[in-house]
Amino acid sequence: MRLGGGYLEKIVDLDPFVLPFDLILPGRDPNALLPHADLLSPDHVDFEGGNLLLSLHSFLLKIGGLTILIDTCVGEHKPRPRRADWNARTDTAYLAGLAAAGVRPEDVDIVMCTHLHADHVGWNTRLEGGRWVPTFPKARYLIGAAELAHWQAEEARAPGAANHGAYTDSVLPVIEAGLVERVEDGFSLGRGMAITGLAGHAPGQIGLDLDCGNGSHAHFCGDAFHSPVQVYHPDWSSRFCHDPALAAALRTRLLAEAAENDTLLLPAHLRNAFGMRIRRAGAGFRPALS
Ligand SMILES: [Zn+2]
Repeated sequence: MRLGGGYLEKIVDLDPFVLPFDLILPGRDPNALLPHADLLSPDHVDFEGGNLLLSLHSFLLKIGGLTILIDTCVGEHKPRPRRADWNARTDTAYLAGLAAAGVRPEDVDIVMCTHLHADHVGWNTRLEGGRWVPTFPKARYLIGAAELAHWQAEEARAPGAANHGAYTDSVLPVIEAGLVERVEDGFSLGRGMAITGLAGHAPGQIGLDLDCGNGSHAHFCGDAFHSPVQVYHPDWSSRFCHDPALAAALRTRLLAEAAENDTLLLPAHLRNAFGMRIRRAGAGFRPALS
């Protein structure tokens, strides 16, 4: 997909990632989504099985001479005993997918983690000789300053426990390698590319706004949305949201702005589409996937 003078691809790590509706959106009634089944089924909601269907992928953005990887999914060999489909994976197609896009790990200039949950940092590192080493040895790894501070405090409280152990095996090694740069809202990655603060789902979640020219923008917005379901129901924060009320308020603000400005929203887990534009529909919104 061409985007803002650059080129965007998805590098898939796990698709579909199946989450029981009740696990991710407890107390919400999937039948409330039936009026939108034409758009949501079969890609995003498995109505019969009662599941929400996500994709775990990286966005690969080649732009202005830079190779940027946004979010790094689950990874391989990571011990995640509490989640079977993430646990000790081997022989995934992720690095082959990157190679098929013409990118070697050492070609990546910037890795940006929208937040530090285990499905956004996994490929930060890989196992080599029994040690976790940076997968992308020449990259600057951009992490939200507040996000990093939060999980460092969690790690100090209960070492090895934060995010399924992801801080220990997927964040700490890149810090120790001197590759991490702490960033905040407004940080510039180059012409027309700026970090946005998106706290809510995670305490210091960040996004990336891309000025595509002629007043149009694309906004990589992490887990501000897990599913197009939340365009119809912006108040449906997930069980995994750090501050559900703040996540819902952010979602509503992003929807209103995207509808107003025709922004392409690029949340992290959309299946069979890159992103979505937002249209007003009565008092609410609807997604137009693209
Ligand atoms: Zn996620």
